Amino acid sequence: MHLSRFPRIRLAHLPTPLEPMKRLSKELGVEIWIKRDDCTGMSTGGNKTRKLEFLMAEALEQGADMVMTQGATQTNHGRQTAAYAAKLGLDCHILLEDRTGYDDANYNHNGNVLLDHLHGATTQKFPGGHDMVAEMGRAAEKKRAEGRNVYVIPGGGSNPTGALGYVNCAFELLGQANDAGLQIDRVVHATGSSGTQAGLVTGLCAMNAQIPVLGIGTRAPQAKQEQMVFDLACRTAEKLGCAGVVRREDVMANTDYVGEGYGIPTESGIEAIRMFAELEGILLDPCYSAKGAAGLIDLARKGAFKDERVVFLHTGGAAALGGYDFAFDHSDRWVNL
Ligand SMILES: *Cc1c(COP(=O)(O)O)cnc(C)c1O
Repeated sequence: MHLSRFPRIRLAHLPTPLEPMKRLSKELGVEIWIKRDDCTGMSTGGNKTRKLEFLMAEALEQGADMVMTQGATQTNHGRQTAAYAAKLGLDCHILLEDRTGYDDANYNHNGNVLLDHLHGATTQKFPGGHDMVAEMGRAAEKKRAEGRNVYVIPGGGSNPTGALGYVNCAFELLGQANDAGLQIDRVVHATGSSGTQAGLVTGLCAMNAQIPVLGIGTRAPQAKQEQMVFDLACRTAEKLGCAGVVRREDVMANTDYVGEGYGIPTESGIEAIRMFAELEGILLDPCYSAKGAAGLIDLARKGAFKDERVVFLHTGGAAALGGYDFAFDHSDRWVNL
C-alpha cells in the first residue's frame, strides 16, 4: 500500500497537531488526546481538506474546469471544496439541501454559506428529502452541454479517492504516536458520509495497528451507518491493493447522540461545545464534532474507556457556528463591573 501512487495536491497543513487535553481529561477521569484536523488550513480547516487533496488532484488530471458537489445548507465539505476550487482556479457549484427546515437568517446565509460565496462558489437550494444525487447529475449534464468539463464530487467527498485522505491520516497518527512513544487505545470521532471512518479504519487495519475506531453517528441509524462505512472501507482497500484487510467487526458506530436529526443541535452537543471551549479553548460545531464529543463525554462518564488513552479526532466544523447562534444562550456573559 503506497499512497504516492495516487495523484495528490498537497494543500493541507499537515501533519495536524496531536495534543493532550489536560483539563478535559481531568474533568472526565480519562486520558484524552486530540488530533487537530480542525487545523488542516483550508478556509478554517476540517476533515474534507484531506479528502480534497486526492479528489482535486483527480479533477485536474481529468482536465476539469469546474467542480460540483452537494450537502446540507451548512455543509463544511462545500466550504472546503469552494476554497480548494478558488486556490486552483476552478469554478465551483454547490447544491444545498434544506435538511433542517430552519428559516433562521443566519442559518441560511451566514457561517459556511457566507464563506462559500466569499470563495466565489455559486449555490442552489433544494427542499429536504430531494434526490440530491440525481439533481447533481442533472446540473452537471447541463453545464457539460454548455461545454464545461465538470468533475462531480459526492456529498462529503466520500468515495474511495476521498477516503485516501484518511488512510493518510491513519499513517500520520500512528507515526506521531510511535515517535512520541504514545500508546493509543482508541480513536473516537464524528461520522457522517463515512469517508473519514472508512479511510481511517482501512489505514489502521492495513498497518495492523490494532487500534479500534468508534464513529459517533450524526444522521443514520447504527446498522446503516456501519454498513456504509464498511462498504466504503472495502472499496478503499481494493483501490489500495489490499482487498479484504478490513473485517466487518472493525467498523463500529454508536448512533445514540444524533438527537432529533441531522443538523439539529442537541443538549449534550451544546454541553460538549461549552466544555471544549471553556476547558480547552477549542471550538466544535453543533452538527458533527459536538455530537462526536457528546458521545466521547457520555461514554467516558459511563466508564466505557476505563484505563484507556483515547484520541478524539477533531473533524472541524466551527465555521458553521455563525449559522447556529440561535442554539446558544450566552446572555449571562455580559457583565458590568
Ligand atoms: C463531514 C464532517 C464529518 C463527517 O465526516 P464523514 O467523512 O462525512 O463521515 C465530521 N465532522 C465534520 C465537522 C464534518 O464536516
